Amino acid sequence: MQIKLLGVRGTLPVHGPEFSCFGGATSCVLVRAGGETIILDAGTGLSGRAWERFFPEKHFTLLISHAHVDHLMGFPVFPPLFDPTVTCDIYLKSREGRSAQAQLETLMSPPLWPVTTGSMGAALTFHDVPPFFRVGPVAVETMESRHPGGSTIYKLSLDGVSVVYATDFEPESGAPGDILDFCDFARGCSLLLLDAQYTQEEYAHTRGFGHSTIPRSLALARTSGARQTIFIHHDPKRTDAQLLDLEASVRAQSDSITFGREGKEVFL
Ligand SMILES: [Zn+2]
Ligand SMILES: [Zn+2]
Repeated sequence: MQIKLLGVRGTLPVHGPEFSCFGGATSCVLVRAGGETIILDAGTGLSGRAWERFFPEKHFTLLISHAHVDHLMGFPVFPPLFDPTVTCDIYLKSREGRSAQAQLETLMSPPLWPVTTGSMGAALTFHDVPPFFRVGPVAVETMESRHPGGSTIYKLSLDGVSVVYATDFEPESGAPGDILDFCDFARGCSLLLLDAQYTQEEYAHTRGFGHSTIPRSLALARTSGARQTIFIHHDPKRTDAQLLDLEASVRAQSDSITFGREGKEVFL
């Protein structure tokens, strides 16, 4: 299984020399496994010319955690979606009584955007998110996150290797997104990609925003027994220097945790 981080910034894309190490693109992770190409979220990491070098596939699957715009901003401009020879399966949980297709068409309709999903060119098939399904040989399990409006946590497994993608997740005791349920869900995974947007000090005024803290995510990584953990959804205010300091303090407590950097690849 090959995992490439294409966007690890939370909430808002940022740019400038102070963000060049960790990157400024919002949520997007490319997974290649079992002959399948799977993209987790369609943030601004999905845009950019880098795609032309490593995306020859004519079929891929897009697993979207939820429809907050930082997770969709790359969708309207992703070049393969304008290729009539491309087919794409899109999974997004129905929310607020609106299907996956209806949620994306909210974004992809005038006056918000001039191109609709039906006129992009690629053949798109929309799916609600069941608790369990398969993408070719890759098993996909899901769990509901604790996040305003809801979000989906995905686990992808193949041949004893698994990656858990848990973004936009404010873990607490009590359903949904219960801490113990999550640790069971992620138990022993090969790689855990985990929201750790806030410091403990920031959490005093960000409680309820739907994101985890660095100390809480450190505890979750340990309790779940994830073999390797990468913290994602970095706060848009956080500079490279600040992220490096925070990463050093976390790694002093657990050397299986790193902070996600745009462009990083992991092979499992
Ligand atoms: Zn987000
Ligand atoms: Zn969100």
